Amino acid sequence: METSIPAGRPKPLADADTAPFWAAAQERRLSVQLCENCDRAIFPPKPACPHCVRELAWRDLNGRGSVYSFCISRMNFIGGYKAPYIVAWVASDEHPECIFNCNIVDCAIEDVRIGMPVEVVFETRPEGVTVPQFRPIREGAPA
Ligand SMILES: [Zn+2]
Repeated sequence: METSIPAGRPKPLADADTAPFWAAAQERRLSVQLCENCDRAIFPPKPACPHCVRELAWRDLNGRGSVYSFCISRMNFIGGYKAPYIVAWVASDEHPECIFNCNIVDCAIEDVRIGMPVEVVFETRPEGVTVPQFRPIREGAPA
């Protein structure tokens, strides 16, 4: 699923650690690092496991999670966004220690709740960059 987005939203700046995350998003995959030594998932990306300092491998997630926290932005602080909109932190179902800062899209601001089940949706911005966002999982809706 993809949403249509106005121009002017900030473009993520990939660095050596985050480039694989953004490359996966460009291919509509939500990917995090896993440590095969201590079996932990790591997000945001790091150069090595912060727990055991071993090398990390990238793995795709199923894209499902729940709203960990959120706020409603009622002012136009950032270009390309029209208030009000939802800024949220979504915890992965598979690895709840991985929390994604995002917007909740396709959701009325009065409907968002902590713990609400959500799924990833990929927002391709007019500038060509693709950003993972999340939307409510609607029971019975096609995936
Ligand atoms: Zn580790």
